[in-house]
Amino acid sequence: MQYEFVVVGSGVAGLSTAYMLAERGYNVALVGLPELIKMVAGSSSGILTYHMPSPFLEWSLETLEFYSKLGSGIVERALCLWMSRDAGFVDVVSSRVREHGVRIRRVSEDYLRGLGLEVETFEDEVITLGEGFRVNVGRLIDTLSSKLEVLGVDVVEGWGVIEDGVVRVGDRMVKGSTVIVAAGAWSRELLGLRNTILYKCQAARLEEPKIDYMVVDDSIGYYINKMQDDTIALGDGIKVIVETPEEAFKVDRWVVEEVIRRATRRGVIASYRVAYTVSAPCIGTGDSYPLVGEVSEGVYTLTALNGVGFSITPALSRILVEHLIKGSRIPEYLDPKREIPGREPREPID
Ligand SMILES: Cc1cc2nc3c(=O)[nH]c(=O)nc-3n(C[C@H](O)[C@H](O)[C@H](O)COP(=O)(O)OP(=O)(O)OC[C@H]3O[C@@H](n4cnc5c(N)ncnc54)[C@H](O)[C@@H]3O)c2cc1C
Repeated sequence: MQYEFVVVGSGVAGLSTAYMLAERGYNVALVGLPELIKMVAGSSSGILTYHMPSPFLEWSLETLEFYSKLGSGIVERALCLWMSRDAGFVDVVSSRVREHGVRIRRVSEDYLRGLGLEVETFEDEVITLGEGFRVNVGRLIDTLSSKLEVLGVDVVEGWGVIEDGVVRVGDRMVKGSTVIVAAGAWSRELLGLRNTILYKCQAARLEEPKIDYMVVDDSIGYYINKMQDDTIALGDGIKVIVETPEEAFKVDRWVVEEVIRRATRRGVIASYRVAYTVSAPCIGTGDSYPLVGEVSEGVYTLTALNGVGFSITPALSRILVEHLIKGSRIPEYLDPKREIPGREPREPID
């Protein structure tokens, strides 16, 4: 059987791309391993960050809308404390999200104290308190997976290899007019993407019942989010480059300790117990933009999401799908074949 589209990789990128194609009536196969689906996604802290410059901000607002319409309980609201030293950036983001009905406002340290938050701040720092959003990762994956089933997407279980533009899974050739590789960190080897960088995203999961708000601390680089299992995810932007995706599953103790030190210094966490730690591979680029588009004839990719995959992926899937079916233009800054300077992964908020 020849499919119109074969999607390789069943993380949030593969699932949402396969869903958007199947929803438009195309005949789609998705290659992935069900037990691995949650491997990277399951480590994610699930923050839907809108604290990003354009065009990431627009993609994150579109993503928020997509998840909200997909099903109930996928997007959860939380009070979010955002700390930044870039007043101009804070103003731009705040006014754009307000247009989308998101409540956000600048507050003083005294105001926080009045709420019982003993947070240490810097003199030139802008603090906002407002609505934050997080995705219930398990529910999102389950919802997308069941929608794929209803839409008749063939899920081919196994590890895909690309040979002459065709996907081989064990002895089986899964043929498609178009192949889309959305295999996260594994996309690099699968497609020979030399302009990408592999690194680890790590987080400590703490037991700290007192915190019930999210923190996005751009000033000293860490975030806090309450997870569905009642732990607190405390993560950061310390990037440890790795050679292979597998290497990224090993936690670096010093990274975890450093992030805890920063949050403790701020006063946002006081007493805590580390319940467990997580680490998983991320693929990024040196110019912060992901890779979306054609790699070789008939083979496309959507990857290098620079640690904010949950916040922007459906918007990028929509851009790719519209290109594939309507021929609409993909911005050049997303071209997977572009030359990218730098060997350090840059996140949009760096
Ligand atoms: C600790 C941590 C915290 C994070 N926190 C956040 C956050 O708060 N907010 C946010 O927006 N993002 C966050 N991220 C980033 C986010 O998790 C990723 O950007 C996102 O999961 C990437 O999705 P993906 O589908 O591109 O790749 P992946 O989730 O890696 O999915 C790729 C899938 O493809 C499969 N695969 C690979 N190769 C093959 C093959 N050859 N054949 C078959 N299957 C294959 C893999 O097994 C995997 O399941 C975090 C990441 C980590 C690790």
